[in-house]
Amino acid sequence: MTSAVNSLQDCLQLDEQDPLRSLRGLFDLPDGLIYLDGNSLGALPRAAPERLAQAITQEWGQGLIRSWNSAGWFELPRRVGDKIARLIGARAGEVLALDSTSINLYKVLSAALQIARHDAPGRKIVLSERSNFPTDLYIAQSLCEQHGMELRLVESGQLQQALDDDVAVLLLTHVNYRTGAMHDMAAVGALAHRCGALCVWDLAHSAGAVELDLHAAQADFAVGCGYKYLNGGPGAPAFLWVHPRHSERFWQPLSGWWGHAQPFAFEPGYRPAAGIGRYQCGTQPMLSLIALDVGVDTVLAAEPLGGMAALRRKSLALTRLFAHLLQQRLAGHGLSVVSPQDDDQRGSHISLTRAHGAYAIVQALIERGVVGDFRAGDGSAHPDILRFGVCPLYTRYVDIWHAVDRLQQVMSSGAWQDAKYGQQQSVT
Ligand SMILES: *Cc1c(COP(=O)(O)O)cnc(C)c1O
Repeated sequence: MTSAVNSLQDCLQLDEQDPLRSLRGLFDLPDGLIYLDGNSLGALPRAAPERLAQAITQEWGQGLIRSWNSAGWFELPRRVGDKIARLIGARAGEVLALDSTSINLYKVLSAALQIARHDAPGRKIVLSERSNFPTDLYIAQSLCEQHGMELRLVESGQLQQALDDDVAVLLLTHVNYRTGAMHDMAAVGALAHRCGALCVWDLAHSAGAVELDLHAAQADFAVGCGYKYLNGGPGAPAFLWVHPRHSERFWQPLSGWWGHAQPFAFEPGYRPAAGIGRYQCGTQPMLSLIALDVGVDTVLAAEPLGGMAALRRKSLALTRLFAHLLQQRLAGHGLSVVSPQDDDQRGSHISLTRAHGAYAIVQALIERGVVGDFRAGDGSAHPDILRFGVCPLYTRYVDIWHAVDRLQQVMSSGAWQDAKYGQQQSVT
């Protein structure tokens, strides 16, 4: 389809025919801005300000402490978790929305390591990819030190070889934050289990963007992010999932009172709650959790229109269009696509690379109303990246057209070479 798209007119027509087009109306996006960074911070749902104002003035202001019961605050990590479960192939009662991705990874990886030490004490390796998101590696490093295990990092292509009888846990991010490369979760899960390793997935760049079926993929544990494709707002709570066969085997180490069987019995000794409940630690930020609830509802709003399958179809069409237009209009400017061409291997963003100037090009585009982002390389195997995320809830085909059009202008005019675009800020 997209190979026949060669004009703004074609893109306008695709938007008109888009079965998901009404969903953009759920968001409050700045006029004229082309926002291609929903993979880093999702857009503001239109319903969020009013819902938060009500939570502040009514639930907090009037209800005060009574709202822990009357407004359902205490149950909210489970209720939002049950909604997220519908997006990731989990069941009700298996997911909690709380804490940050890093903290949740600490909890689930600790549990996985305890299970592995009990069931397969000879296995001493946590296997991951060198290109995994650093916080995942940092958390794994800390836990390996505590448990007398070793973190083995390999390049993506070497995972299968590296998966041997010493591996206790395979820790992977489903969609790579730099390249957008996506693992075949079911194939990896089958491989890991055949080798006797547990599988822990980070779904930060997957939840709300690609179809997921944790049960079918034989996953053991998963964590994910609330402020990316779930549109929960800056610093939104994250989520975690534990396969029910594991959830009651051990305590997770952050054994705070919210994870106690009876928090309001105020016993001096810890007794873990049944099931997923024990993965709670302490009091959650209710206003942020309420904003996340609204954000998750924007993704669930696609359910009557085909749900995650329809969102995924559109996401792929958008990234495919981006790559097609780039090839058509930016040949000779030194930009190459590093994201996989194969739809089955690509998440919901397109990453480009260039020998130099990636940061400045992103800055020049932002100044021209096209917001993507930059991810630094390591100077060797992994190059600097220009990253453009599409969110099928609100990204339009015309947005892709204008983004590539402005990129073409920035490159052919040499505008990106202006010294002002070279100064790196603290958050890229
Ligand atoms: C965004 C992201 C995180 C974020 O972790 P926080 O604890 O929310 O800061 C973690 N892992 C991956 C793979 C991510 O892309």
